[in-house]
Amino acid sequence: MSQAAVRYRIAPVQPGAHLFEVTLEIADPAPEGQQLWLPAWIPGSYMIRDFARNIVTLEATSAGQAVAVDKLDKQTWQCAPCQGPLRVRYEVYAWDLSVRGAHLDTTHGYFNGTSVFLAVKGREDEPCGVEIVAPAGEAYAHWRVATSLPRDGAGEYAFGTYLAADYDELIDHPVEMGDFALATFEANGVPHDIAIYGRQQADLTRITADLKKICELHLDFFGQPVPMKRYLFMVIAVGSGYGGLEHRSSTSLMCSRNDLPLPGEKEISEGYRNFLGLCSHEYFHTWNVKRIKPARFMPYALAAESHTRLLWVFEGFTSYYDDLSLARSGLVKPKVYLEALAQTITRVLRGAGRLKQSISESSFDAWTKFYKQDENAPNAIVSYYTKGALVALALDLTLRRESKGLKNLDDVMRLLWRRYGEQGVGVGEGAMAEIIEEATGVDCREFIARYVDGREDPPLADLLVDVGVGVDFRAAEGQNDKGGTPARRSASQRERAVDLGLRLGGLAEATVTHVLDDGAAQAAGIAAGDVLLALDGLRVSQSELEMRLKAYAPGDVVEVHLFRRDELMSFQLTLKAPPQDTCYLTLKEKIPEDVAKRRRDWLGGA
Ligand code: ZN
Repeated sequence: MSQAAVRYRIAPVQPGAHLFEVTLEIADPAPEGQQLWLPAWIPGSYMIRDFARNIVTLEATSAGQAVAVDKLDKQTWQCAPCQGPLRVRYEVYAWDLSVRGAHLDTTHGYFNGTSVFLAVKGREDEPCGVEIVAPAGEAYAHWRVATSLPRDGAGEYAFGTYLAADYDELIDHPVEMGDFALATFEANGVPHDIAIYGRQQADLTRITADLKKICELHLDFFGQPVPMKRYLFMVIAVGSGYGGLEHRSSTSLMCSRNDLPLPGEKEISEGYRNFLGLCSHEYFHTWNVKRIKPARFMPYALAAESHTRLLWVFEGFTSYYDDLSLARSGLVKPKVYLEALAQTITRVLRGAGRLKQSISESSFDAWTKFYKQDENAPNAIVSYYTKGALVALALDLTLRRESKGLKNLDDVMRLLWRRYGEQGVGVGEGAMAEIIEEATGVDCREFIARYVDGREDPPLADLLVDVGVGVDFRAAEGQNDKGGTPARRSASQRERAVDLGLRLGGLAEATVTHVLDDGAAQAAGIAAGDVLLALDGLRVSQSELEMRLKAYAPGDVVEVHLFRRDELMSFQLTLKAPPQDTCYLTLKEKIPEDVAKRRRDWLGGA
């Protein structure tokens, strides 16, 4: 066991009160008095979260004598000078069941270092020892530990001592403790674990076999050297939830237990496809954002917002490759991949915000816009994930076209890995055009000006012709129509279809969540938060609305009664024809051999 000068001890002392107790020992604190600080945000999730607000109590001692502590700001503490080692003991309230925070109850404990480990100012580059202590009592005797933190005396999956090379590494290995389900597999010789917390009966054999395919595809994609010695998928399975956060040797995922396949199931459900897509996404991040990084994140400045215009590369490209890799690995059929792709196109087209914000602007303002979406978000912002993925697709197809099939986006990713990720060099804010040209010989400055820094829709219909994929649009057929498939309604039904220009939430009540730009509701004066009560004097609920609208045609005027706050109001709404914003893609059959070859080069397989 090493003797780091900065040592942490974390113990789930009161699971019922959701309190971790952390003791920090600094062998040789700063003579003028030691400063300690906690991050305001966690890398990968670009929002100020003020983790320090969960520190409930904090006290410092030296050789058994109290040391005065003064608070300098919301997340910084100043200890008085002391002779000899400084010991700081604090309690952290952990009741955030998400991939970003910390959570503790009698069933398990989970934490990110950003929530629980105070940084020692001026010593952030030094190794840190961590002792992870088991909760006291027979009830917890079977608890184990899952983390990619390097062991330093602790047994496998056991409580004990771990060691991080510096603070940046310390906060990049979340820890799960409890009686999680565990499975192990190898991908290209690298040991991988998956640990699942939460009630579930998933077919772990099938999941590990599928994950192995995805991991090996990504490992082969980037080639040698493999950046991690081992890898851990940490899963929180709940009733409903979805999300993930990437780390250098692990990922934390949250999913619905219904998304996981049951033993005996053979087909890939939409939920399981989404789960595999999420795993693929976070694993791709092991290279793209954990090692290939914006220069702005080297090092991370965790006390306040850290702006980059490049999230369209780090999240957009990753979102493109996550599902594409499922197709390339053969886990999903090309037709299924195109259905998911068409749903992404649909999501992007349904937001008028894409005409007001570019994806480089969306990246920059992630902190206050993408991560703080309100009722006006569809009208005001664009997602650097979804539009970023479409721009990546358009760029990939453009590079293939311009280079006559010799180069593509994979070459750009590999150059990014060799030149930046592997060397530990950050990607400059304006560097992408040059990097793409170096990797492929294609000048894409105009492409970037129009689709990345500008607000134009990428020309997907034109580009997808090259790989024998047809692009078609139709109107949405109801609130739950995500696109991806042709129209189901008859021609006469489609002709009479009407649109209110709003989105609804709530269960029984028809509560307006969003009013869309240039729609009928906006023109009539209906607002987000309104609860619809009646159409033309007849009561209406969320479930009946679609049925009721069948009685109308575009141009009809309908009287809408609603509650705004506690005020009963009525509006005259002129119904419109629905926009053609729902996409579906078709794999063309009977295509010339050169088109078929381009499709194989792109999607993989036969
Ligand atoms: Zn991501």
